[in-house]
Amino acid sequence: MFDSLSDRLTGALKDLRGKGRLSDADIDRTSREIRLALLEADVSLPVVRTFIARIKERSKGAEVSAALNPAQQVVKIVNEELVGILGGETRRVQFAKNPPTIVMLAGLQGAGKTTLAGKLGNWFSQQGHTPILVACDLQRPGAVSQLQIVGERAGVPVFAPHAGTSVGGEGELGISSGDPVEVARAGVEEARRLQHDVVIIDTAGRLGIDEELMRQASDIRDATQPDEVLFVVDAMIGQDAVSTAEAFQEGVGFTGVVLTKLDGDARGGAALSVREITGRPIMFASSGEKLEDFDVFHPDRMASRILG
Ligand code: GDP
Repeated sequence: MFDSLSDRLTGALKDLRGKGRLSDADIDRTSREIRLALLEADVSLPVVRTFIARIKERSKGAEVSAALNPAQQVVKIVNEELVGILGGETRRVQFAKNPPTIVMLAGLQGAGKTTLAGKLGNWFSQQGHTPILVACDLQRPGAVSQLQIVGERAGVPVFAPHAGTSVGGEGELGISSGDPVEVARAGVEEARRLQHDVVIIDTAGRLGIDEELMRQASDIRDATQPDEVLFVVDAMIGQDAVSTAEAFQEGVGFTGVVLTKLDGDARGGAALSVREITGRPIMFASSGEKLEDFDVFHPDRMASRILG
């Protein structure tokens, strides 16, 4: 996804190589090229401005170093600032002191929440946890059965409304209610009863932001008191990623971000701006439809990947 950004940035920094000293004009020119590369990749303007200001300030004031030549020093500064924008340290899941740990997924329809529920379930299982998925997306036709398929593939049980209320079947974990808040509450109860130590709640999304979506997500949040609310965002949607994040931040609030569809060929820079704009860390990244196309998000590794 970040191939062209990566090419542009490495190109901009390459021009500095071989110079014994960097003049202010060199730094200004390189900063301009970096700025263009970021804007072209769809990184949002306020984030670009802050980033460039810091690069310039630090590069012009850089101490002479015995270990690094001036060009290497600028590369180091750009790398450090990029890691900073992406959140600095890797942010780990906050587990509840008294299990179960409740993880709620929120985001627009199509962001990849249901797919992510399976990936997270699989990931928690691999870490030795005993997750359960709770199907609270009762809006999108087929979302419940999609979660059941995803759960089966991941080997993780799914708590869902029974047939007649929505989808489900005999002998499955479930509840006879079509109210997502009730389903969420009952799912957490069931997790407690069956001693699952992680509950992953899939919620409904809309194609765009609307009040009812926000209210429903807030009601589920209030009813279940999640330890983590993960805002799931499709990195392919460009600048809308930032405005959607702001709307969810205000309407529901979240503790972390999951970037999805990083395997796409869109520019993706907007998604990289979400941390800086909302102050919430990017915790996971999804890069495909398969269970294993998923990882913890490491800001330093992403920065190194982008800088080539
Ligand atoms: P939801 O509406 O938020 O639950 O979104 P879904 O989980 O149904 O995902 C919407 C579509 O995006 C589905 O076709 C998924 O297979 C696909 N999808 C989800 N995550 C990824 C990803 O990381 N990469 C790609 N290429 N497709 C994804």
